[in-house]
Amino acid sequence: MCGIIGYIGKNHPKEVLVKGLKNLEYRGYDSAGIALKNKEEVQIIKSVGKVVDLETKINNSKLIDSNIGIAHTRWATHGKPTEVNAHPHQVGNVTIVHNGIIENALELREELINEGVKFNSDTDTEVVATLLNKYYDGNPINTIEKVIRIVKGSYALGILFNDKDVLYATRKDSPLIVGIGDDDNFIASDIAAIINYTNKYMLLEEGEIAEIYSNSINIVKDGNEVEKEILITNISSMDNDKCGYDHYMVKEIMEEPVVLEKTFKPYLDNLDLLPDLTKYEEIHIVACGSAMYAGVIGSSLLEEYANTRVYVEVASEYRYKNIIYNNKTLVILISQSGETADTIAAMRMANEKGVDTLAIVNVKTSTIARESSMQVFIEAGPEIAVATTKAYILQVGILSLLAYKTAYDKKLVDIDVVEEARGLPRLLKEVLDRRDDYLKIAKSIYEKEDIFFIGRKIDYAISMEGSLKLKEVSYIHSEAYQAGELKHGTISLINDGYPVFAIITDDKIKDKTISNVEEVKSRGALVIIISNEEIKGYDLEIVVPKINSFLQPILVVPVLQLIAYEVAKLRNCDIDKPKNLAKSVTVE
Ligand code: GLU
Repeated sequence: MCGIIGYIGKNHPKEVLVKGLKNLEYRGYDSAGIALKNKEEVQIIKSVGKVVDLETKINNSKLIDSNIGIAHTRWATHGKPTEVNAHPHQVGNVTIVHNGIIENALELREELINEGVKFNSDTDTEVVATLLNKYYDGNPINTIEKVIRIVKGSYALGILFNDKDVLYATRKDSPLIVGIGDDDNFIASDIAAIINYTNKYMLLEEGEIAEIYSNSINIVKDGNEVEKEILITNISSMDNDKCGYDHYMVKEIMEEPVVLEKTFKPYLDNLDLLPDLTKYEEIHIVACGSAMYAGVIGSSLLEEYANTRVYVEVASEYRYKNIIYNNKTLVILISQSGETADTIAAMRMANEKGVDTLAIVNVKTSTIARESSMQVFIEAGPEIAVATTKAYILQVGILSLLAYKTAYDKKLVDIDVVEEARGLPRLLKEVLDRRDDYLKIAKSIYEKEDIFFIGRKIDYAISMEGSLKLKEVSYIHSEAYQAGELKHGTISLINDGYPVFAIITDDKIKDKTISNVEEVKSRGALVIIISNEEIKGYDLEIVVPKINSFLQPILVVPVLQLIAYEVAKLRNCDIDKPKNLAKSVTVE
C-alpha cells in the first residue's frame, strides 16, 4: 500500500523515479509526486490520480539538472487526496516523502501552531517535515534521531536536506529497503520498485537511519554504525515478494485496505450487481476453517437485520448429512482457492438436488467458481501465507454487503451502509497501523499455554476467528466461547493470569458481556478488551473506530490477526507455513 522510491547517482533521477512509481502502483494509491534536487534548489511536481498523469506533468515541465530525487505514491490517511496534500512535502531546509501514519500528529501540529507555524497541507507528514526543519542543526543524523523520538506511529521516510547532496531514510512499522547499484543507490518500499536497476539491497530495520551517497552507504542506529548484510534478490522466487515485511502473513494483513477497496468498488457503485437473496427462505452457508467463521458472521447479520434463516455448517459434516432442502433454499459456498475438496463435495450435493448455489471465491477459474450457479469474486490477489487473513476479511466484506442489500431490499433497514463502506479502507488502515499496541498485548500473552476468547452473537463469531488465527500460527491452545456459556463449566479453567480476550462491539448485549468479563476478572483472569468504545477498568484494551454493525467486524478481526502474528513471531514460529497446515485443502 502506497510507496516510496528514491535515487542518488550519476544520472538524472527522473527515469528511475517514474519507473519505480509504476512498479509500486499495485500497492494502491490516490496521488503521486516527485522531488528533484540540485544543490540548494528543489523542484517538486505532484499530481492527483495515476502515475501516468504525473509522468505527463513531468514530461511537460522543464526539469532542473539533478542527481538526487525522491518520489511517492500516497494513500491518504490525513487529509483528502489533493495536490497540496500529495507528497513530497517541503518545509524550509527539508523535503520528505512518508508512508504510514503519525499518531500524535494532531497534538504536535497544535504545539507547532502555537509556536507560530503555518501549515500548508492537512497531512501528518508535514508535521514531520516541520519538526525536521525546526531541529535541523546541520547534522542530519542527529536531527532525524531527535525527531523520531518525538513522533509516534508508523513511518517510512525518504528525506532530503537542502544543503546536503545526500539521501536519508528511516523507518518504523512501514517497509523500506536500501538498494545498492554500481555508481548509484536507491531507497524503495520494496524491491519491485528498483528491480530494473539492481538486485542488491539491505533491509532497513526499525529505528535505523540510512545516509546514502552515490557510492557509499552508512547505516546508523542510536548514534552507532550498524553492519548490514547485503541481500541479493531473485525476484522470481516467492521469498522476494514480501515487500520488506518479515512474513507474508503481515504483508497480506497490511494489504487488506487496498484489496477491500478493490473488492467493494463495483458493488458500492451498484449494489444490484450482488445476487438477490430476498427470494430464498433459507440459506445454508457451507465452508471450512476461517471461511466457515466468515460464514458465521454472515449468518449473524442475515438473521439479525435481514430476517433470513441461515444455517452454517462445516463442509466435511454437511456433505454427509441428510440435508433437507426446499425450492427456496440457497447454498452459499465460501472458499479462497475454490478447490477445497469438502466444499466442492457439498456444492455438488446441492447442485444434484437442484438447489441454487452461490460461490464466494478468490480464484475465478477454480472448480467451485465454474460449477456453482452464481458467483461473487473477492479480489484478494495471491494469498501466500497459509493462515488466511486478507481473503477472510474480503469474504466477511461480501457477506456484510449481501446482508445489507437483503435487509435493504426487504425494507428492514434505512441506514446508508454504502457511504460508510467507502470510508472503511481508511479506517482499517488506521487500525492496522497501531502495531505497537498489538505487540504490547502479544508480549503479555505469548508465554501462556491457554487463552479464551469470549463474546456474544456477532462478537462470538469474531472470537472464533481470533482464536483460530492464534492457534494456527502460534500453536497456543485457545478456545472461543459464548460469553454467557462460560459459567456452565468452562470457567473452572480460569485462574490467576489466564488471558481472556473479550470482544465487545454489539451495543445491545454489551452490558451482558461486561458482566461475564467481571466473572472471569474476579477469578484472576488477565482481561484484554477489544471494543469500539472505551471500557475502563481492565488489564489491556484496544478501541477500534465505531461503525455500523454490518461493517464493524472488519475493523476488529484484523486486530486479532495482528496480535496472533506478533505472538507467533515472539514464539519463533514458522508463521507463513505453520506445521501440519496446507493452503488449499484439496483432500478430504
Ligand atoms: N499519512 C500520510 C498522508 O496521509 C502518508 C500516507 C501514505 O502512507 O501514503 O499523507
